[in-house]
Amino acid sequence: MKIIDPSFEIQDDLDRSSLAVRLEACGRICYKSEDQITENSAIPFVTKIAAHGHNSVLEVAAVSLQVKCSSDYFFELLSCYPKYLVIDRTEKGMLVTGSIRSFRELYSSHSQNQVVSELVSVIAEKEPFLFQDIFDKKKALESNPEIDVTKMSLQQIDVLPENLLMKHRFVGVKFVVNRAVTHELVRHRPCSFLQESQRYCRYSQDKYDGQVTFIKPMFYQDESAEFKLWVESMEDAEQNYLKLLETSSPQAARTVLPNSCKTEIIVYCNLSEWQHIFKLRTSKTAEPSMREIMIPLAAEMKKRYSMM
Ligand SMILES: Cc1cc2nc3c(=O)[nH]c(=O)nc-3n(C[C@H](O)[C@H](O)[C@H](O)COP(=O)(O)OP(=O)(O)OC[C@H]3O[C@@H](n4cnc5c(N)ncnc54)[C@H](O)[C@@H]3O)c2cc1C
Repeated sequence: MKIIDPSFEIQDDLDRSSLAVRLEACGRICYKSEDQITENSAIPFVTKIAAHGHNSVLEVAAVSLQVKCSSDYFFELLSCYPKYLVIDRTEKGMLVTGSIRSFRELYSSHSQNQVVSELVSVIAEKEPFLFQDIFDKKKALESNPEIDVTKMSLQQIDVLPENLLMKHRFVGVKFVVNRAVTHELVRHRPCSFLQESQRYCRYSQDKYDGQVTFIKPMFYQDESAEFKLWVESMEDAEQNYLKLLETSSPQAARTVLPNSCKTEIIVYCNLSEWQHIFKLRTSKTAEPSMREIMIPLAAEMKKRYSMM
């Protein structure tokens, strides 16, 4: 068995990548199949995953659109009750941010809404493969010259006034932590998540060195009796898991794995939600293994966004 420390990584690199590359990099964490990423693998992977209904992959890429229009169109968009979009009125119209999933589902149920149609046609023009099954330019509503939609770059989002930046800037973080910590993380409902799957990952395989990885608990000193007992317990769990894998599937064998098991999770949300998470998860009342990772993450985030 392997014992490692918890860690995190703010996904700055993916912010500079195309949407397809971002979605693939995040989606493959579930299967731990990052080794299969090639120059041309992103679009087929994302298309296949969406067709299989693994929809949360399409949540981890947000798009922001600047819309110049009269206030009538603002209310027309609101008439669809777009639950998963962030919408703000601006001097010239509105600012709309949402994930690929949110725009896809909004269009699927409101293709006859003029604003929805304009928003989606701009994204679909830039990323046709993400909408090819639901959006056909020839059948879509005719373009309305009173609605002018422009996709914003990350550089434009990063210089928005603070109140808008907090809501429209989405940031992804990859955590390598134990399963007790991820169980708490996934309680934060406005976030999107993708997590290494114990249903699909078979830790007896060579790519895992045939062993289970555990996160070192911060509660026990290295040479303490408690730590030794913890190590013994993990060894027993690993042995039983590997034995069960000889005759059953990973989803059956995983039932003997403990909370200390290492897992990887991507958490994706806007700065406002990160601020909320930091408030709850760095406080003295938070779980210590959560604080262990959240206190340094909050400090890193503050270096990038001083208001955090
Ligand atoms: C110290 C501590 C101890 C805890 N102990 C327990 C425990 O014993 N058992 C347990 O089950 N959980 C426990 N939790 C989890 C906690 O109750 C929340 O589920 C978790 O912290 C998510 O935070 P949240 O609900 O504030 O906001 P998020 O889910 O992060 O949502 C962000 C904001 O969105 C809004 N929001 C989202 N969904 C809704 C909704 N459906 N209705 C209204 N507003 C919404 C709220 O304004 C909220 O502030 C604990 C958390 C902490 C920090």
